Amino acid sequence: MYEGAVQDLIDELGRLPGVGPKSAQRIAFHLLQQDSEDVNRLVTALTEVKAKVRFCEVCGNVAQAERCRICADPRRDQTSICVVEEPKDVVAIERTREFRGTYHVLGGAISPIDGIGPDDLRVRELMPRLASGEVQEVIIATDPNLEGEATATYLSRLLRDVGVTVTRLASGLPVGGDLEYADEVTLGRAFEGRRQVNA
Ligand SMILES: [Zn+2]
Repeated sequence: MYEGAVQDLIDELGRLPGVGPKSAQRIAFHLLQQDSEDVNRLVTALTEVKAKVRFCEVCGNVAQAERCRICADPRRDQTSICVVEEPKDVVAIERTREFRGTYHVLGGAISPIDGIGPDDLRVRELMPRLASGEVQEVIIATDPNLEGEATATYLSRLLRDVGVTVTRLASGLPVGGDLEYADEVTLGRAFEGRRQVNA
């Protein structure tokens, strides 16, 4: 245990995902040794992200306005929606350049162990988007792990009678992994080879 401010910083850093006590300590002392100017840049970035970034009212992606840049782009194909878990998955799929439609970000995946059910995700917000009749395909691109599969199964059942084609990314993605870790070629191929799950 350190005194006062140093320990406070270590405690706060230790609450971040993936940062253990040792890393928290290392980062804290790294910051202590840096110039005030460098630390201030970090402080500004942290303050700005909370002040400026919000979630898109349509798809739930991170946005700097009411709508994210994808939902605000009239060139995007409004007939297909790709459902993903997190904003980072949008970035991963955009990198493949395989998809020109829009997204729906759930904000996580169904995980009974963690007490996360459909009501904790942005599932309800998806339904009105399908009501207009414009959407023809919903592509489920949840992670290829237990939670992602559970979420995909739930969604394909939910959307069975909605009158849209529901597809799931082809297998070939590293099982148990995270969508963002798949390389562009593999993810692109999984996109191309998606199969219908509600026929
Ligand atoms: Zn959006």
